[in-house]
Amino acid sequence: VRTTAALRALDAAHHLHPFTNARELNAQGVRIIESARGVYLTDSDGQKILDGMSGLWCSTLGYGRREILDAVTKQMEVLPFYNTFFKTSHPPVIQLSKRLAEVTPSQFNHFMFTGSGSESNDTIFRLVRYYWDLVGQPDKTVFISRHNSYHGSTVAAASLGGLSAMHKQGGLPIPGIVHAPQPAWWAEGGDMSPDSFGLHVARQTLDMIDEIGADKVAAMFAEPIQGAGGVIIPPATYWPELSKGLKERDILLISDEVICGFGRTGHWFGCELMNTQPDFMTLAKGITSGYIPLGAVAVSDRIASALLAHGDEFAHGFTYSGHPAACAAALATLDIMQSEDVVRRVHDDIGPYLQEKWRSLAEHPMIGEATMEGLIGSFQFCADKQARTTFPASANIGLAARDFSFDNGLVMRAVGDRMVIAPPFVLSRGEVDELISKASQTIDQTYQHARK
Ligand code: PLP
Repeated sequence: VRTTAALRALDAAHHLHPFTNARELNAQGVRIIESARGVYLTDSDGQKILDGMSGLWCSTLGYGRREILDAVTKQMEVLPFYNTFFKTSHPPVIQLSKRLAEVTPSQFNHFMFTGSGSESNDTIFRLVRYYWDLVGQPDKTVFISRHNSYHGSTVAAASLGGLSAMHKQGGLPIPGIVHAPQPAWWAEGGDMSPDSFGLHVARQTLDMIDEIGADKVAAMFAEPIQGAGGVIIPPATYWPELSKGLKERDILLISDEVICGFGRTGHWFGCELMNTQPDFMTLAKGITSGYIPLGAVAVSDRIASALLAHGDEFAHGFTYSGHPAACAAALATLDIMQSEDVVRRVHDDIGPYLQEKWRSLAEHPMIGEATMEGLIGSFQFCADKQARTTFPASANIGLAARDFSFDNGLVMRAVGDRMVIAPPFVLSRGEVDELISKASQTIDQTYQHARK
């Protein structure tokens, strides 16, 4: 019999989990999700849970979309696998490349495929250095990324990421990466206004580049909105100042769109919201609405023309680069996004409806700020609202809130004492009301818990 207890015991006996604290796991056991439909998960005890995180930010169109299932099944019958190495290709990867060129900003007309966001960032790491070699500037090798950013778990991606817990394990970062400050006004802005702080952090970053020497700096990796670092929406002054400075210094910009891409911010890509013109975009997650693993690298005309003009092979690729079934899932995802005008819905309709209610959560005495763009947002638990102070880390406020929320039937993620949501784009107004009511209940429970 597959009882929850039996499944938990088997999981504990044989499954090593990513990003999971073994002590917490031993004390409580795993939560087992058995099925999902629309925006709801069902666990092994039959509890229905509103998925406020779209899985891991990826299930953008919700669960059980028949069109995606059918497209994948059909492709599996016709051609379940073929590779894209050695001068071969296949219809789904060709179609997908063309469709991506249509929906991405105009400088992107070439795409290289991978199996994940991490692989895409490691691919870009190599492509950037190769590019500067090809154009006769081999000294441009240093990468800038940011504290508290997340770019994935492979070696270059985890090094680019700014999470010190990841660096401690496995001797990272690899050489040649410099971490710049993040534009996290609530936590780090002190007495400055958000706008002054945005300018300040952008200029600090440019000063760091000048100290290294722009002739040695290859590129900067950044998420338009830092996701796993706590959904940090930068002040409005940050990106204009930074992207202008990068252009003046001829530093390439990589917009890591693994979370922000494919509609999350109410624009097709986060760089469009921030009005930057990146040289590469990192794509994954929402590209297939999470139905099948797929990643991609969007390569701008400037880079692609140098690679193609040179003509040598780029000795890099993955068995599953452009997997036919994954490409079919991506094509079906794009079909739904376009036929249902999903990005507009996030921008004009369901996004603003949720944002207004979400921001009002900040009226609670324990909430320091509550922010959201499109359908990605967060709120900050605070000990003192005026002084913008947090509880000691040992109080584990965020983890307590995450567990209360799950028990209330809502998935929210904890990043320290910041709670994050990124629900599927298809949620209804009624489901927004339910999300807000469960989030409020969670805040009240956490407030009581913190006062004990
Ligand atoms: N980049 C960003 C911004 C991410 O949020 C993630 C994953 O959450 C990644 C890269 C890594 O993607 P993957 O887990 O598909 O390797």
